[in-house]
Amino acid sequence: MNSQNGQNGKSNPYALAMQNFEAAADLLELNADIRNMIRAPERALSVTVPVRMDDGHIQCFEGYRVQHNTARGPAKGGIRFHPNVTLDEVKALATWMTWKCAVVDIPFGGGKGGVTCNPKFLSMAEIERLTRRYTTAILPIIGPGQDIPAPDVYTNPQIMAWIMDTYSMTRGYLIPGVVTGKPITLGGSLGRNEATGRGVFHAIESACQHLRLPVKGARVVVDGFGNAGSVAAHLLDSAQADVIAVSDSRGAVYNPEGLHIPKLMLHKEKTGTVCNFPGGECIAPVELLKLECDILIPAALENTVHGGNAPHVRAKVIAEAANGPLTPEADAVLREKNTFIIPDILCNAGGVTVSYFEWVQNEQHLRWDLNEVNTRLEDVMKRSFNEVLEIQLAFKSSMRTAANVLAIRRVVEATRLRGHYP
Ligand code: NAD
Repeated sequence: MNSQNGQNGKSNPYALAMQNFEAAADLLELNADIRNMIRAPERALSVTVPVRMDDGHIQCFEGYRVQHNTARGPAKGGIRFHPNVTLDEVKALATWMTWKCAVVDIPFGGGKGGVTCNPKFLSMAEIERLTRRYTTAILPIIGPGQDIPAPDVYTNPQIMAWIMDTYSMTRGYLIPGVVTGKPITLGGSLGRNEATGRGVFHAIESACQHLRLPVKGARVVVDGFGNAGSVAAHLLDSAQADVIAVSDSRGAVYNPEGLHIPKLMLHKEKTGTVCNFPGGECIAPVELLKLECDILIPAALENTVHGGNAPHVRAKVIAEAANGPLTPEADAVLREKNTFIIPDILCNAGGVTVSYFEWVQNEQHLRWDLNEVNTRLEDVMKRSFNEVLEIQLAFKSSMRTAANVLAIRRVVEATRLRGHYP
C-alpha cells in the first residue's frame, strides 16, 4: 500500500494505517481504552493452503483472512492473489475497509484476505483448487452474517463463484450472500462493475458544486485508464467535461481539446492500451501528472504522487480513485497548495457500496434494476461527501482527516453503545 518514505519504496503499510488512525483519534481526543480496542484487528487468521498442482506435486501457499473490526456489522473486504501479499499488508487493507464502510455508513466492518501466489504462473484448474482449499481453510470465520469476501487484485467474479460454491457445498444449500462481486447469473448486482468509477464521478460532482467549479468544461486528467478510471472518465465526458489526458501501464495520450472517450475506450478494448490512439498525441507518463488541469484522477496504483512529483501537480481537485495514490509527503505538499483532495476511503467507496447492495439483494432474494442501484449509489456518495465536508469545515482539517474522523467516530459510537463484553 502506501509508503512512509515518500518515494516509491515499500515500507510497512500497517504502520501507515496506524499513523492515519492516531492522527484522527487525537483530533477526536479518544482515550487509551477505546483506541486500543479499535486500533488492532479483532481477528487475523493465517492458513497454509496445500494445492495439488497440474504435474501432481503438492505446493503449499500462505493465506490470510483478517477481520479488523465488526462493531458495525460483518467484516467486508476483498481477497487478493498476489506474490507480495503479507499479513501486514492484509491487516492494513482490512483496517482501511473498516473506515471505508463507516465513512459511507454501510453496516459492515472491515476485512481483507489474500494468498501469497502469482496467478500468472498458475493454470485455471490450479487457481480453482487453490481458491477452494483457501475457502475451506477460512470457512469457520466467513459467512453472510460474519465476513463477506469480494474480488481484489487478481481475483474476479469466477473466483467468487468458486468461493460461493465451496461454502454452499459444506452447508448443503446455495448461499449467495457469502461473497459479493459474483457473476450476475449467480446473484451478482447490476451496476457493480461500474460502481467504483460511478462513485468517483459523484464525489467529483459534489466537490465541484462545493468549489463552484462547473463540471461542464472542466479539464480532467486520468492516471490509470482501467475499470475505475475509464468509467469515471466516461461519465465526466458525458457531463461535458474535457478529459484531456489519460494513461495506462504502457503510456499516455493527450489532446488539449479533449479526448473522444467512447472512441478511446474502443481503442483500448481493441489494442489493450491507450497508446497510439489516433485522436491524441502520445506523451511520457511523467508529463501527465504535470499537466495544468482542474481535476486529476489517480486511478492506477498506490504512491503514484510522491514527494518528488507532487510539487509539479497543477490540478485544483484530486479525486483518489485508487487506494493510497498519494504518499504522506505528497499529501502535505498538495495541501500546502490548497489542492482539494477527495480521499480514497470516500472517493472510491462506490465499489463497496454496491457490494453491500448485492448482499442486501441476496439476503432478501430480490433483484434490483440498474436504475435503483445507481440512484441509491448516487444518494450514498453525495450524502457521505457532504457529511465529510461538514466535518472538514468544522475542524478546519483536510478532507482526508475529516473522512477518518467521521469513520472512526461511527465505529467508536457503535463500540460504546454495544458496551464491553463480558
Ligand atoms: P484495473 O486493473 O482495471 O485498472 C488499473 C489501470 O491502471 C490499468 O489500466 C493499468 O494499465 C493502469 N496502470 C498500471 N500501472 C500504471 C502506471 N504506472 N501508470 C499509469 N497507469 C497504470 O484496476 P481498477 O479496478 O480500476 O483499480 C484501480 C485502483 O482503484 C486500484 O488502486 C484499486 O485498489 C482501486 N479501487 C478499485 C475498486 C474497484 O471496484 N475496481 C474499488 C476500490 C478501489
